[in-house]
Amino acid sequence: MNEQINITLPDGSMRQYPKGSTGLHVAKSISEGLARKVLAAEVNGEVWDATRPIDTDAKFKLLTWEDASGKNTFWHSSAHLMAEAIESMYPGVKFWVGPPVDNGFYYDVDLGDQSIIEDDLRKLEVKMAELAKQNNSYVRQPISKADAVAYFTDKGDEYKLDLLGGLEDGNITLYTQGGFTDLCRGPHIPATGFIKAVKLTNIAGAYWKGDEKNKQLTRIYGVSFPSAKQLDEYLLLVEEAKKRDHRKLGKELGIYTMDDDVGQGLILWMPNGTVIIEELEKLAKETENDAGYKRVVTPHIAKESMYLTSGHLPYYADSMYPPMEVEGEKYYLKSMNCPHHHKIYAAEPKSYRDLPYRIAEYGTVYRYEQSGELFGLMRVRCLHMNDAHIYCTKDQFNDEFRAVNDMYLKYFKIFGVDKYVMRLSLHSPEKLGVKYVNEPELWIETEAMVRKVLQESNIPYVEVQDEAAFYGPKIDVQIYSVIGREFTLATNQVDFSQGRSFKLQYTTQDNTTDTPLIIHRAPLGTHERFIGFLLEHYAGKLPVWLAPLQVKILPISDKFADYAKDVLQKLKKADIRAEIDERQEKIGRKIRDTELMKIPYMLVVGEKEMKENKISVRRQGKGDLGSKYVEEFLQEVVTEIRERKGE
Ligand SMILES: [Zn+2]
Ligand SMILES: [Zn+2]
Repeated sequence: MNEQINITLPDGSMRQYPKGSTGLHVAKSISEGLARKVLAAEVNGEVWDATRPIDTDAKFKLLTWEDASGKNTFWHSSAHLMAEAIESMYPGVKFWVGPPVDNGFYYDVDLGDQSIIEDDLRKLEVKMAELAKQNNSYVRQPISKADAVAYFTDKGDEYKLDLLGGLEDGNITLYTQGGFTDLCRGPHIPATGFIKAVKLTNIAGAYWKGDEKNKQLTRIYGVSFPSAKQLDEYLLLVEEAKKRDHRKLGKELGIYTMDDDVGQGLILWMPNGTVIIEELEKLAKETENDAGYKRVVTPHIAKESMYLTSGHLPYYADSMYPPMEVEGEKYYLKSMNCPHHHKIYAAEPKSYRDLPYRIAEYGTVYRYEQSGELFGLMRVRCLHMNDAHIYCTKDQFNDEFRAVNDMYLKYFKIFGVDKYVMRLSLHSPEKLGVKYVNEPELWIETEAMVRKVLQESNIPYVEVQDEAAFYGPKIDVQIYSVIGREFTLATNQVDFSQGRSFKLQYTTQDNTTDTPLIIHRAPLGTHERFIGFLLEHYAGKLPVWLAPLQVKILPISDKFADYAKDVLQKLKKADIRAEIDERQEKIGRKIRDTELMKIPYMLVVGEKEMKENKISVRRQGKGDLGSKYVEEFLQEVVTEIRERKGE
């Protein structure tokens, strides 16, 4: 009797509990406060209900809102709660699936001949709040397949019966909270009372199983939180994100456009966007020049044989455009610059004295993304990548990889990115030879090398299994905009495989030959994604060095047109991007319009300014800075630009 089990906590400590104890028991034994926050538990790597009895020794972790899987469990459980509310308001409704998503959850439902509109969502929210208050437990019930089939046949839910068809007997569970029972493998939070705030956000049509030949179901999206305060904060963030939406700003500020005749996902950079691109490239070129890179230029297409060597074909074929045939040969639009760069490396014999060999290119690549996946500047079909490849010996790796990381940090500083995380993506030993090059020792070795650099440079990072590139471990860099939204921009990858595939070599000091390691890196990601990020990050108010138009001269009336032109000439001579607002508008209107276009500086010129040979300076967002001599202003703004100052 009273058998004990050993529970090993994340810090490595072990505690004993009676067999059949639950995650909640463990939490309570630590603190009552913790127990109130526990949403689920991780038991031997699997996420479980915090109320599910544990019968064996286990590695154990409590999951709260702060854990991604805790949050997912919370949102998925909210989908059940929403289903309960829907069922009570729309009798006879049938349910397909209700998963958590990036920001909340949804449920796909078949309302039969009933329908739901935006206003109904408010009623559903009220119902959900009422049901949440009942604080009903989510009760797990293992059931035989036959009994489950009987239950859903009786209920007349053919969608759940379809799901059951794919499940194995002995592995089926139902979950019930209050009056609602669902077929689900779980896990769920302990009780509905944890859900303190709900917002149903959207109604959309969704074909059953994503197949447009199937019936269209109604997808209802929502988001929920453990406190009302968190919902308020979230709604504020959504509002702010809307104002900063890069698609909205991109149009208003004349940054980019798209056209049906050109094609979906193919960005046309307008003059203002092109200025930003040129400034970013200038920054990259200066930085890379300082870091010992050389520049190269390569074509946009290559023959099939090259992509067979690189391994992009056949593995990566889905994300490449179909080939075009020329003179009996197949040519592909390049989806990566690497193979072209490898050919440049191979063009001349190399010795250890030539390494590290660093070549850089703002390379244009084409990726086939499904039209449904395309999104503004974030998911496109033609990208301009801040690409470079470093070919080095193993001894040089540490310094080179570190220098690349330092380059990221330098850029973060320039762009005011305070929060970032590097995700070290590792291989998975079971998938060697399938998803990963079959070189077990090299994987271990290079992963350790990368980890060492991250530790030495004190960079915040997390490790994730089974997300490496085919040819080596990589670091995905996630940065956060000022409003806290996450962007995955860039990667830094180690590659011990392509060097061999391309037979890249160098002569060692002992006169033998060896294959270089390759570092693939793109700190500024692609122009498309990076500029999308910058627009949100700065809410369109770009720092002066990046602003397409840096200064607008606003003459109070026609009388000062000539003086305005003098000022313009001086600015242009100093390479400042400036224009005169020559419209017959009141000065107040001119100032307002310039503010709306988010132009950093306004120079107002009138009678007094002309007489004193001065200008009145206004700064976007800051207002009047007083009157200055043109030369004085020039000196300040030229420094601001040269130093790439933020705000
Ligand atoms: Zn569920
Ligand atoms: Zn590459």
